[in-house]
Amino acid sequence: MEELLRALVQCRRCPRLVAYREGVPPLPKFAGQAYWRRPVPPWGDPKAKIMVVGLAPAAHGGNRTGRMFTGDSSAQFLFRALHAVGLSNHPYSVSRDDGTEVRCVYITSAVKCAPPGNRPNAEELANCSPWLKAELSLVRPRAVVALGRVAWVAVFRALGSRPPEFSHGAFADVGPVRVYASYHPSPRNTNTGRLDLEALEAVLKAAKAYAGC
Ligand code: SF4
Repeated sequence: MEELLRALVQCRRCPRLVAYREGVPPLPKFAGQAYWRRPVPPWGDPKAKIMVVGLAPAAHGGNRTGRMFTGDSSAQFLFRALHAVGLSNHPYSVSRDDGTEVRCVYITSAVKCAPPGNRPNAEELANCSPWLKAELSLVRPRAVVALGRVAWVAVFRALGSRPPEFSHGAFADVGPVRVYASYHPSPRNTNTGRLDLEALEAVLKAAKAYAGC
């Protein structure tokens, strides 16, 4: 895993994403902070039974803090749910030194560099797929929670399988791995009521029970 992480943070395979991650101007509220501006490494337990897969780091979230699902509103929502079901010691994830620890969980993304408008293109998804595939081989989770349709498709592709229809709460097995679908905890979903905490917690609880955490 350490070798994978060392190689990952050097990756420059996607010119558009490299330009964006390195050049996106800081938000005024983060002025003076040093942004990470590299591929954002996964974190958590490298032998976790549950892998949580997001879409990509946010320009001012993971691309700023250097940790996936850290420092933005999606992270805040996800960690409230992880904490509520006993998979995190804190209901927040704000910085790499915030003392937050996940239990039985490894957190990663389909695409490791922040994309403009949170929309990686097909080539970028394909470029980044080998990283996710390598992570799945190393961690060997029992359950995977895919946050959003793009992550859902990316997980099945990385597992070498055709993705079934996406819907919140759906699940499907690929060999011994059970993949669960949840809407992504982005403000677009949480502010519109498409995803509430209870619905996200229900998926996490199902994954936790299946994985035996
Ligand atoms: Fe490399 Fe993935 Fe970043 Fe593309 S998105 S540069 S493949 S780490």
